Amino acid sequence: MTRANKPIPPTARLSPRQTRLLAGRLLTWYDSDKRDLPWRRTCDPYAILVSEFMLQQTQVAMVIPYFERFMAAFPTVRALAAAPEQDVLRLWAGLGYYGRARHLHAAARRIVEVYGGRIPPRVGDLLFLPGVGSYVAGAVASIAFGVPAPAVDANVARVLSRLFVLTGDPASPRVRKDLESLAAALIPAERPGDFNQAMMELGARVCGAAKPLCDPCPVRSSCKAARQGNPLDYPAAAKRPETLEVEEVLAVVRAGDRVDARYLIVQRPGDSGRYRNMWEFPHVAVGEGRRHSRKPDRIRETLTAFLFESFGLKVRVDEEWAEIRHQVTHHKIRKRVFLCSLADQGTGQKAGKKAHQEVQPADTDSLRWVTLDEIAEYPLGAPHKRILALLEESAGLFSL
Ligand code: SF4
Repeated sequence: MTRANKPIPPTARLSPRQTRLLAGRLLTWYDSDKRDLPWRRTCDPYAILVSEFMLQQTQVAMVIPYFERFMAAFPTVRALAAAPEQDVLRLWAGLGYYGRARHLHAAARRIVEVYGGRIPPRVGDLLFLPGVGSYVAGAVASIAFGVPAPAVDANVARVLSRLFVLTGDPASPRVRKDLESLAAALIPAERPGDFNQAMMELGARVCGAAKPLCDPCPVRSSCKAARQGNPLDYPAAAKRPETLEVEEVLAVVRAGDRVDARYLIVQRPGDSGRYRNMWEFPHVAVGEGRRHSRKPDRIRETLTAFLFESFGLKVRVDEEWAEIRHQVTHHKIRKRVFLCSLADQGTGQKAGKKAHQEVQPADTDSLRWVTLDEIAEYPLGAPHKRILALLEESAGLFSL
């Protein structure tokens, strides 16, 4: 057994009195210091379910506007279940981890079909919903229904590891199970939802991963890591796979004149993983590892060939215009954005229009020519939304 997977020692258990003290101090702090968040102003189980899906691996500040827009568009589980997937993805666009949106949508449909549109209160039933793991099930059951179920996310795992100096890797399924048992033993029967939220809030705002604020921490007197003076040693750092650097080139292809400019967007295939069926500007990988900064001419050739072979499109690759960096799991991606215009247009407005009709393929199910306003109606991934924002800032930039 590795050090990272050591079992949780019996000394992690507290006496009933210590448990009451810890929970009491935490809840007193939570009552006076908790943030005012939209999903905390309601006890609607559906709103709580939506918020918990959105909050996974995402900062609270980023989630708030998405949550408000989503609830305004789909105020009930029935409204969400009846919506087309493209509408759900469009409202989620920019929040990332699109599997969550699809799972939430599928969960809403199952809730309507199996539970008559009512969120089930039991953890066992919640766990059968698509995309619901033990954390979301525990959070919804405890916050919406007062069930004393643990909800251990990364913040709570860190707090528990430090309180009880646990060296196990919280990503390991066995350690996670032990952490959930430990969390369950700490939950006060009268306020399970508040206790779970208080633990999450403490992890997010006080017991930070890199900088725990032990001095003002409400549970400092119960914290073994603070007493030892080494909270940063807990939990054990998990071994992460190596990050791979990838370079891509992306084409912003424009057709039409300034007044009637349209841009090419394409839809990803239905079997292309987390971004399936979403829309984007066409792009292609040109290098992995550190083979970056290829010669501009070579990149232009690659992009021209890609657009012709993939979309039957003859383009002139004009200038390198922007650079977007983002990360997808263990890939750091650098997207070099090139402005492109349709080739063979000749000169003059008439010649331009004729050539335009000849070389521009018609809209199909997976390819559209749309105005900047229309692009906003399509579900775009976060990097493509950033490109759209840059285009809106620079409207009129092209001169064909
Ligand atoms: Fe975290 Fe420090 Fe509070 Fe312990 S005392 S829970 S290490 S912030």
